[in-house]
Amino acid sequence: MKKIIKILLHTLAVLLLTVLTQVGGAVWLLYLVIANRTKIFFMGKNIAQHPFVGSRMGRVALHLLGFFALYAFVTFLIVPPLAKYGGRVSLALNSTKDFPIKPNNRLFCLANRHYVTPRMYATLKDIATDLKTTNPDFQIVYLDANFPFFDGFPLLPHLSHDDGQKLDIAFIYKNLKTNKVTFGKSISKLGYGICETPKKGEYNQAKICTEKGFWMYSILQKMNLHKKRKTTLDEVHTKTLIRKIIRHKNVKKIFLEPHLKTRLGLQNESKIRFHGCHAVRHDDHIHIEI
Ligand SMILES: [Zn+2]
Repeated sequence: MKKIIKILLHTLAVLLLTVLTQVGGAVWLLYLVIANRTKIFFMGKNIAQHPFVGSRMGRVALHLLGFFALYAFVTFLIVPPLAKYGGRVSLALNSTKDFPIKPNNRLFCLANRHYVTPRMYATLKDIATDLKTTNPDFQIVYLDANFPFFDGFPLLPHLSHDDGQKLDIAFIYKNLKTNKVTFGKSISKLGYGICETPKKGEYNQAKICTEKGFWMYSILQKMNLHKKRKTTLDEVHTKTLIRKIIRHKNVKKIFLEPHLKTRLGLQNESKIRFHGCHAVRHDDHIHIEI
């Protein structure tokens, strides 16, 4: 029975890590093999007899530490060159003068969720450079991109982020009190779920989807615990951002909630599409496809 529970727990860990990071599940299995072969933490009697190391808690803690060390090694040193060989490159961890783009949260990068094709990379660089001409403080803040390997492997919960050609980016926000634009910052650590909901009289797509039975449509908004807002949508700069994106020849379409398309005065832009009720709402971020 104990063995079955152990196998189930390991299977669960592999599945969860694969869904969240793509390579994490494989690293977990690799770590199990290495730890088993080398008995890495239990070689010396003195170590094993140490009150902490010898305890169940101590063993679990050391194994987790060992796993994270191996995971970091694979993520930072093995994955990038292999991904490049397969046709995907990682987006930068820091914004630079030449390429003002940054992750909303570096944990996205630690989870290998920041890979795109070289074509998407070049497209973003063009857009970011173009944006800087309108305002030197402009920065693109990216959320989920794609995993490093295999076309058709979705980056959940975004089913379409499976080929390196998709990217979510944050709106531009301004401080509620001072009205100062907060370039380079999204609205929360996650970046999803804090929605610019329809105002009175605006078309309410979310309500229509929910009434049709698509309960997942607003799930991120419902799950979000970050209730107190310090910033709000900066319509002027968000509109500039969207305009620059859709003007780029490589961009096929972007997803944005219908009421925001109208609110920002972008009704006539054919590249801005509605994504359908089977997806999640898009009044908390912009989805780009090339
Ligand atoms: Zn997306």
